Amino acid sequence: MAGIYIHIPFCKQACHYCNFHFRTNLRFKQPMLAAIAKELQLQKNYLQGKKIQTIYFGGGTPSLLAAEEIAAILITIQKHFAATEVQEITLEVNPDDVTQDKLSAWRTMGINRLSVGIQTFNDALLKYLHRAHNAAQAFASLQMIAEAGFANVSIDLIYAIAGQSEQMLQQDLALATQFAPSHISAYCLTIEPNTAFGHWLKTGKLHMVDDDTAAQHFHTVVSTLAANNYQQYEISNFSLPGFQAQHNTSYWQQHHYLGIGPSAHSYNGKSRQHNVAHNQQYITHIASGTIPSTVEALTTTDNINEYIMTSLRTSWGCKTSYLQTVYQYDILSTHGTYIQQLLNLQLACLEDDTLFLTQQGKLLADKIAADLFVV
Ligand code: SF4
Repeated sequence: MAGIYIHIPFCKQACHYCNFHFRTNLRFKQPMLAAIAKELQLQKNYLQGKKIQTIYFGGGTPSLLAAEEIAAILITIQKHFAATEVQEITLEVNPDDVTQDKLSAWRTMGINRLSVGIQTFNDALLKYLHRAHNAAQAFASLQMIAEAGFANVSIDLIYAIAGQSEQMLQQDLALATQFAPSHISAYCLTIEPNTAFGHWLKTGKLHMVDDDTAAQHFHTVVSTLAANNYQQYEISNFSLPGFQAQHNTSYWQQHHYLGIGPSAHSYNGKSRQHNVAHNQQYITHIASGTIPSTVEALTTTDNINEYIMTSLRTSWGCKTSYLQTVYQYDILSTHGTYIQQLLNLQLACLEDDTLFLTQQGKLLADKIAADLFVV
């Protein structure tokens, strides 16, 4: 089983916090779509005939594309890959792109999961984040999506935004759960250097939310969503029973995937591949029949560390027996003293052979994982 990710590198405007690869100039949309089609053909053997289980359109803003442009990509995938039994096709959509015509076309072509970039229902915060939509468009899009009959819908929310009070966050959660989406991704706002917020932070125009407030927001998200029957299966991801995102879960479970488009990543168990994050360079290289990517061969140490990093973030936890069997790595004896400290501080718990982080431990997930790495 494997997945395909398609990166559509265009957006209407730049959100102040975003460090994904995208351009707001759509002049090269047609050559980009031609290059994506050609890369699918050039990479047809990357997954070695594995059955495609999931397809994910991300970006950027794939909902900017005309329905027929998305359909053409799906047809190209069908042509070159074992994609007759795909279970989940996700499209990331922004509220301001949603129309009844597009919804109907998306359903007809087999898209069965929408991931909607709501972020917040608060107009002042949407403006501050520099989103292209407002709260009224957010409500209208979710209403239309429900009426169009999509059963599998994910809403993205952001918390720990400067100026976002606890009450504002509770209101966002109340409004989001009112729509009963099958899935909610709730991300703590991080300030990345090459973004407008990163620049503002450097020049003193923006102050980061303090750790205590961010932790309080995280606990509010977790407890509110739990009270509404959402299971936290990954630190930032919550689903109603049976609606875990299959595509993202496959990343966390080390399944193979192919990423197509500028800045997309691929993984085949032996190496990671990163496409160039530059639209023109990507188009030029693909036109000449070469894939502009950097390949990083993975060592056993890389694989162990990757497993520790991702599994600790999930509800299925880090299986010590898996590390032992697959990599002959005995994490309990290598890091026994540190793990005992985590247990004593109630940052982690050990059930049978599996190490889990507690809610408090999840706030420190990156540091704990790094402390458990093989060096
Ligand atoms: S719409 Fe998404 S990808 Fe585009 S700038 Fe905003 S957050 Fe980034």
